[in-house]
Amino acid sequence: MTDNTKKPKKVINKSKTKVPMREQAPMDRIMNFEEVPLGYTEDEAHQEALRCIDCKTKPCVAGCPVGIDIPAFLKLVGEKNFEGALRKIKEKNFLPAICGRVCPQEDQCEMVCTLNKPDKGREPGGIGRVERFLGDYAMEHNLTITPEIAPATGKTVAIIGSGPAGLTAASDLAQKGHKVTVFEALHKPGGVLFYGIPQFRMPKEILIREIDGMKDMGVEFVMNYPVGKAEPLDSIRQRFDAVFIGTGAGLPWFLGIPGENLNGVYSANEFLTRVNLMGGYKFPDGADTPVKKIKRIAVIGAGNTAMDSARTAKRLQPEVVYLVYRRSRLEMPARIEEIHHAEQEGIDFNLLHSPIEIIDDGKGAVGAIRCQEMELGEPDDSGRRRPIPIEGKIRDFAVDTVVISIGQGPNPLLSADCPELARDERRGTIVINDYAQTSFENVFAGGDIVTGGATVILAMGQGRVAADAMHRYLMTGDPAPADNESGDVCPNLT
Ligand SMILES: Cc1cc2nc3c(=O)[nH]c(=O)nc-3n(C[C@H](O)[C@H](O)[C@H](O)COP(=O)(O)OP(=O)(O)OC[C@H]3O[C@@H](n4cnc5c(N)ncnc54)[C@H](O)[C@@H]3O)c2cc1C
Repeated sequence: MTDNTKKPKKVINKSKTKVPMREQAPMDRIMNFEEVPLGYTEDEAHQEALRCIDCKTKPCVAGCPVGIDIPAFLKLVGEKNFEGALRKIKEKNFLPAICGRVCPQEDQCEMVCTLNKPDKGREPGGIGRVERFLGDYAMEHNLTITPEIAPATGKTVAIIGSGPAGLTAASDLAQKGHKVTVFEALHKPGGVLFYGIPQFRMPKEILIREIDGMKDMGVEFVMNYPVGKAEPLDSIRQRFDAVFIGTGAGLPWFLGIPGENLNGVYSANEFLTRVNLMGGYKFPDGADTPVKKIKRIAVIGAGNTAMDSARTAKRLQPEVVYLVYRRSRLEMPARIEEIHHAEQEGIDFNLLHSPIEIIDDGKGAVGAIRCQEMELGEPDDSGRRRPIPIEGKIRDFAVDTVVISIGQGPNPLLSADCPELARDERRGTIVINDYAQTSFENVFAGGDIVTGGATVILAMGQGRVAADAMHRYLMTGDPAPADNESGDVCPNLT
């Protein structure tokens, strides 16, 4: 007799490697600002999802800073139930098309994936690629998964800053029935997602669509409104029942070397904002804000921001783009995919070089950058091997533009206006408790303004924890969960 109760055997794609993703060829893409990877088709996403073995331990879920049930959404994609999969992701992450593109999956969910066995030539599941597919599928099929909005509570909330932290907090609080107003200093919402990450890595249309969805939920956006200048924080916290600060880490660090004030030296933020947000490369016919006509450029640093700057510069068609970094490839903090794309596009990597001076061309502009060659010594406090100068080894790079991309800290505008708000003395970041509450009872904070420069998904995770705590605060006066309730604390605060 046959046993009809037996579960059907799960179909698994036993391929050791991820289903490849088509992308624009390097020589084509450096001539345009269009997106580089082209995304999966339905069939490719289905095949990739079938590589998930649905292991017992599911380490990917813990590896995701917002705890998406990854095996569950992959299973639904494996059944070609794309809408169901999207709903599953959206339980935890309302920006899958964005996170699928920019999250450092190789350090998070994919790193801990049971399949990930590089020594055996086996790649992890392509979780980010399938997530991106689902976000794009929703857009292509005009599929709006509108969250349910709770009945109005009569409470008002101000969100300061419209980056991923602010947007997440705004969306969650609107869903809980509060009246939410977002104040943004710039003329477009989205934070780094809009002004920093270039179009060829994250098309702005995706962000615009997500933000339009939030407007439909009743969230009001007030642009060109730098809180601290347009209106003091003190006034905002009197006007609203609760406030969330998500103002990010937009203040660039400089090297502190001679020549940094010469014409032609940009911070990465300024350079990317001029090109991405203001469209400076179309000046004067298509944009009001210019960006210098570049012949030879050096980008200093090796994080995502540096890769974005170098690859953006490449699309402005200069003769050469140098990337200068004082450690080795192993220590480069950028996502592997960004490094790989930069190399493919012909960025000239100069590792183990540390800038010591920017040299004047005799007319007050950049003529060259002088670098000290380095070697690696013992690990320093960051755990990475310390770069040490090699005596007598100095090298000049003839350039007319230098972009400095060595990190950034919190913008002091808001805290300068409100010195009583507790901050970390050394880092300038806002200090919060486990429930994202600052030293002011009705003011909460999250994202890069708390952690210092981090990642999109961490900022979103903090926005979510803060929204939960703010909701409790608004409804009960206490941001902590009651004894019989569960509640997350802010992830990775250091
Ligand atoms: C070029 C670049 C590339 C990056 N690439 C990646 C990547 O690939 N993957 C990844 O995970 N992370 C990446 N990051 C990091 C990531 O973007 C940030 O960690 C994340 O955006 C932080 O979110 P946030 O909401 O805290 O702040 P932000 O995104 O910085 O947003 C803060 C917003 O607040 C506004 N604001 C500031 N002060 C005020 C004020 N006083 N009043 C009103 N508004 C104010 C700002 O204008 C801004 O819009 C990148 C960062 C940069 C700069």
